[in-house]
Amino acid sequence: MDQLWEDQEEVPCVACGNPVCGMDRGFAFGTEGVLCWKCAVARGGEYDAAEDNWTTTPDVAGLTVHHEWDE
Ligand SMILES: [Zn+2]
Repeated sequence: MDQLWEDQEEVPCVACGNPVCGMDRGFAFGTEGVLCWKCAVARGGEYDAAEDNWTTTPDVAGLTVHHEWDE
């Protein structure tokens, strides 16, 4: 499994803005996009805990990574 984050680093969910840390089973897409567990499941994602993998990826259409420093 690719590690997008450092263990303790938190990044905001691109859909709801809640912090997602590397210990959570968030869904990472693109280069920096991250969905929290709730949003990933709400968007159709299905996670296989045994495989430690998303068997069905969430629909991330329309989501863009927003940086605080972008204005
Ligand atoms: Zn979210």
